[in-house]
Amino acid sequence: MERVAVETRVLSKNEECAQANRQLFKERGVVAVNFMSAPGAGKTSVLEKTLPALKDDCEIAVIEGDLYTTLDADRMHSAGIPAYQITTGTCCHLDARMITRALDEFPLGDTRLLVIENVGNMVCPAEFDLGEDFRVMVYSAVEGAEKPQKYPLMFQTAGAILLNKIDLIPYAGVSLEELTANVRKVNPKAPVFPISCRTGEGIPPWTNWFRELVLGLQ
Ligand code: MG
Repeated sequence: MERVAVETRVLSKNEECAQANRQLFKERGVVAVNFMSAPGAGKTSVLEKTLPALKDDCEIAVIEGDLYTTLDADRMHSAGIPAYQITTGTCCHLDARMITRALDEFPLGDTRLLVIENVGNMVCPAEFDLGEDFRVMVYSAVEGAEKPQKYPLMFQTAGAILLNKIDLIPYAGVSLEELTANVRKVNPKAPVFPISCRTGEGIPPWTNWFRELVLGLQ
């Protein structure tokens, strides 16, 4: 019981902070998108493929969440995109207060699209609202077909689901149909985009859709 009470308090404190972030984004005309996945599903690679397609339309900034390293922010800088790294130490997710604090040191300026790359983890990040407008989940084809059933919350709260690494499907003992059907069982609504960041397959339909979404939310 006590554990439930503590979790409830932590989440409601987070919700207050998330609402403040949401209000700030609204006032500043910023669309905030939270990218989530298990470790290694390819969030950073997805951003490297996606964000250049929007660079001419709006100012983009990225907040990266990672336990220890600045490697992902370094990759964003290499792609010419301003990025700020939050290192969470032992904390396995970002929370709303971490975003508030990051924005003290990384002001929004003219940013119109704020991308948040969460810590790689299929469980906790889904429980913490950051004040974002939209969630994207990256699910890679090599993680096993049963993940939507085992970890439904992240799939259910995502507004779009990217099925990444489809070039590896022949080696993974799964089919695209099975992966898609399992996603659909827990989230029948969100569009599912099969992609491969390595080969580029499926990237244009996804980036076109995402671009329309972001411009429509602004
Ligand atoms: Mg990453």
